[in-house]
Amino acid sequence: MPETSLSPNRAPVSHSLRVGGCFALLLAVGLLCWPVQPRAAQSEGAVEALIRRLAAPEMDGRRAGTPGGERAVELVERELAALGLAPLEGFSGLRQEFEFHPHSMVTGETLRLAGAARPLDPTDWQALAASGAGRVTAPAVFCGYGLRDVAADWREYEPADVVGRVVLLVRQVPEGLVADSAPQAQTLERRVAAVRECGARAVLVVDSPFDLQAARLRGEGPDPALGDLGLPVAGLSAAWADSLLQQAGSGLKAQLSRLSRAKRAQPARPLPGELELSIRVEHETARSWNLGAALPGTGAAARRWVLVGAHHDHLGRGADGLGPLHPGADDNASGTALLLQLARDLRESLAGQAGERRSLALVWFGGEELGRLGSRRLAGESPAWLDSLDLMINFDMLGRLENQTLLLLGGAEHPELQPGLGAAGLAAGLQVRATGESPGGDHESFRALGLPAVMLFTGAHEDYHKPTDTAERIHSAGLEPIRRALAGWLPTVLDPGLRIAAGQAAAAVPEGGSPVRVAIGIVPGYEGHSGGIPVQDVKPGSAAERAGLRPGDVLLALGRFPVANIHDYTFALRHYVAGEELPVAYLRDGQRRQTTVRLEERIRP
Ligand SMILES: [Zn+2]
Repeated sequence: MPETSLSPNRAPVSHSLRVGGCFALLLAVGLLCWPVQPRAAQSEGAVEALIRRLAAPEMDGRRAGTPGGERAVELVERELAALGLAPLEGFSGLRQEFEFHPHSMVTGETLRLAGAARPLDPTDWQALAASGAGRVTAPAVFCGYGLRDVAADWREYEPADVVGRVVLLVRQVPEGLVADSAPQAQTLERRVAAVRECGARAVLVVDSPFDLQAARLRGEGPDPALGDLGLPVAGLSAAWADSLLQQAGSGLKAQLSRLSRAKRAQPARPLPGELELSIRVEHETARSWNLGAALPGTGAAARRWVLVGAHHDHLGRGADGLGPLHPGADDNASGTALLLQLARDLRESLAGQAGERRSLALVWFGGEELGRLGSRRLAGESPAWLDSLDLMINFDMLGRLENQTLLLLGGAEHPELQPGLGAAGLAAGLQVRATGESPGGDHESFRALGLPAVMLFTGAHEDYHKPTDTAERIHSAGLEPIRRALAGWLPTVLDPGLRIAAGQAAAAVPEGGSPVRVAIGIVPGYEGHSGGIPVQDVKPGSAAERAGLRPGDVLLALGRFPVANIHDYTFALRHYVAGEELPVAYLRDGQRRQTTVRLEERIRP
């Protein structure tokens, strides 16, 4: 091309200059178009780069409650802060703290038949890791599986049968035995909490003699998320349980066979004599954080919410911190990084967009690997926006797009979501498959509340929860299509025109029954403490303030319900209405005290 100059004030323009001019114009247009691509390339590189940083050795596998876990929180927080999104209710700044017990030490323990010369041999019983501390001497009662589900018309005991007693129950509820009872109601945690709420003093758990797997698990118990169960709980050998029951007429096998033949709950069976049980427990307390921010919606639709979440933690080096490093590149550095990138993309693509739009909550959960600690915390806290949640989408393991297929787990319950995601996937060169199954994950914490929740997933693989889940094995070529598909799909989910089906779990008995409609005006601590929950703060002008409660007090009981952890607290509140006057037992400076509180309506901003 002949030499050309482009200054505007020269004599009439020659042919070559015209050609030059057109080229410049094309170049300008080209340059104008180019910014999109570099951002995609930049985002592609950025997502993979962030996965590498989260899966790097210095993150030490990002276990909650460890220095590596804290470094990961700081990294995600820095990335999130750079986006300058709106704050999310329930978070202070970008963080929401929660405490948990990574380790519990059960010490100094005795189980003896009252009057017997020798206590039981340690091989015959063991305190459960989540046991509460306590010294109990009381008569015992056998309650079968210890299930009392009034809605399912299955009552293995009445409150009067267990009050002041040691309850003996069988750990494993046979699948399908109580068809109408929700799985959440049958968990060991829930059954133990239910007898405790009825006033039981301690619980002994025996493995079903029909469950061959059982025997090796005697000492294991519920997860650390619940802190302690609020009363002494121990596993008992089937041989000992059988000998106790023989004294009341017939042994363990006979009792359970009778029950399964009748397919009807059998009445509680008091056992002769008394049991002496004492358990001392020391809980190590650790803390971690959820990180969260919001992209507010527009118009009236902004009152409705969609939550997209991804857990930032992984296994670290195992519970004792001495095992091999688990980088957790796919699980779940991939989901964490993609969600940060999409937060950036949506902030830009939604800015200034006309029309009504739901609000978007973006949360990076902590402690998922230790039992959904962070998402349970958020679900338990239930900030106002959660009451207006239309959908929860969980990003977990999105780094191994093996066969160009993105899975929407739990999507079979949401046919309304499939066309949008399918179209966005296609546009990005992806297949999308909706499935019915919904494995464990943070979305479960919201399904348990009866909220609609799904999970995006690229599929299981042999490196799952292994030291080999490294950044090198991430399918980087799959990251960009997934990012594009989700950047295209999520705005359609925010469109109020999309009617999202209610959560399936709504039909089942939610974890704690009816929603909480009342409040007393305290900010409860989330971890059990001295057999109750700490009062972290008291709202000015609240019923709690009028009742004389102060920060630092420990709430022990509310009305007729003992309160050993946050679940008990919300469970108790669900049983009362505004205006009711309740006795409240609490500890101040080690002294047990009582006051009366008048419940108030729970205000929703
Ligand atoms: Zn995961």
